[in-house]
Amino acid sequence: MHRAVPFPRWSTLPSKRVAVVGSGPAGLMAASVARTNGASVTVFERRAGLGRKLLIAGSSGLNISHDAPIEEFLDHYRTRSASRSSACDDRLISAVREFPSHAWVEFVRGLGHECFVGTSGRWFVREMKASGVLQSWTGKLKSDGVEFLASHPIESVPALEELRSRYDSVVLALGGASWEDSPPRWPSMLEELGVLVGAFTPSNVGHEVAFPPELLREAEGKPIKNCTLTTPLGTKQGELVVTRYGLEGTPMYFVGTPGEATLALKPELSLDEWMALLRRPTRENLSPMRKLKKVGGLSDAALALIYHLTPAPVRDNLTSLGLRVHRFPIRLGSPRPLEEAISSAGGVRWDELDSRLMLRKLPGVYCAGEMIDWDAPTGGFLIQASVALGAKAGRHAST
Ligand SMILES: Cc1cc2nc3c(=O)[nH]c(=O)nc-3n(C[C@H](O)[C@H](O)[C@H](O)COP(=O)(O)OP(=O)(O)OC[C@H]3O[C@@H](n4cnc5c(N)ncnc54)[C@H](O)[C@@H]3O)c2cc1C
Repeated sequence: MHRAVPFPRWSTLPSKRVAVVGSGPAGLMAASVARTNGASVTVFERRAGLGRKLLIAGSSGLNISHDAPIEEFLDHYRTRSASRSSACDDRLISAVREFPSHAWVEFVRGLGHECFVGTSGRWFVREMKASGVLQSWTGKLKSDGVEFLASHPIESVPALEELRSRYDSVVLALGGASWEDSPPRWPSMLEELGVLVGAFTPSNVGHEVAFPPELLREAEGKPIKNCTLTTPLGTKQGELVVTRYGLEGTPMYFVGTPGEATLALKPELSLDEWMALLRRPTRENLSPMRKLKKVGGLSDAALALIYHLTPAPVRDNLTSLGLRVHRFPIRLGSPRPLEEAISSAGGVRWDELDSRLMLRKLPGVYCAGEMIDWDAPTGGFLIQASVALGAKAGRHAST
């Protein structure tokens, strides 16, 4: 008599074998989601140590996301691509919608790390560095059975083809091209297979400014606190730092672009308030520069900038000097190179990916994180998009 074969329960189905290449935030999130979906997961990492860039990102306070409302949050990706050479695609937007900041923050809390929102609206991990998070995250994955193979670069076509033959799916989470000693090798591997990879350009990077040596002697390494930078790309308030080659800092990362720019060095005051403050009588008879120093409340670096970049006739006239401080002209040169950039624009073209982030030309191979052609300012938007894309790729690779 024919007996119906019972439909296998999910747990008895052979699990999918997923290879994740890259142990940054995108790769680790892809591995986490694939493992949660029941896949057996192996993570391949080129370097001897895991998650190097996450560790670097955490070295000055681990800023994992931003607390902005979702549409405002997403606008950071949209406006960035409108002004730069990257592309903002619906798949990036949907990935962040599906895995927004609160989901990511809960995930980090679930690893046992306290998170808080700073005054700037940025989400931070309380211990302010990444090593603990990385350790808990990889530790959890290992205890869940995920295998890690460090010192295992996948950067040639035969190496990738071998993975494709041994695993049901492969998630590439190879990162961008910034803060590296040498250009990444994976773009030529994918290009050999016909995948279009856009050239990497530096993003979230300092710009050159021709500072005279006298200015650098006084101000190198010092902050210009609470200023507002305006360029054709927009206006952003924050702190800039004078460096050997120019200016670095959040306002530059948001709106820096070569050409004429202005710095408001006292942005909290209107022009009238500022001029009234400067004109307030003092007991001593001060030169305009001395008066600026005494009543202006400007940082040393701002004063050095004003002194050394202002022609003497302007410096000697209180009204002209006041106007200049209110809207200080500065010429921004080239962006600094990729090696010094926080992130890179460019990477795998969105056209090469389907809605699941799978490479159309390489069925079963998914991409995630900064290796795809998108861009965002600092402030947590980079790591957030990386983990969101990792979650999306990991989900599709394992189902
Ligand atoms: C100085 C600095 C500060 C930063 N600060 C912040 C911040 O405050 N907030 C924020 O949101 N973001 C910040 N970032 C950016 C953030 O670190 C990145 O956006 C994020 O790490 C990208 O994640 P990813 O997984 O896509 O790539 P990555 O983190 O770069 O990971 C890619 C991994 O793949 C490995 N790999 C590469 N090629 C191969 C190969 N062929 N085979 C095997 N493995 C390979 C790499 O070794 C690496 O471990 C900062 C970055 C830097 C450099």
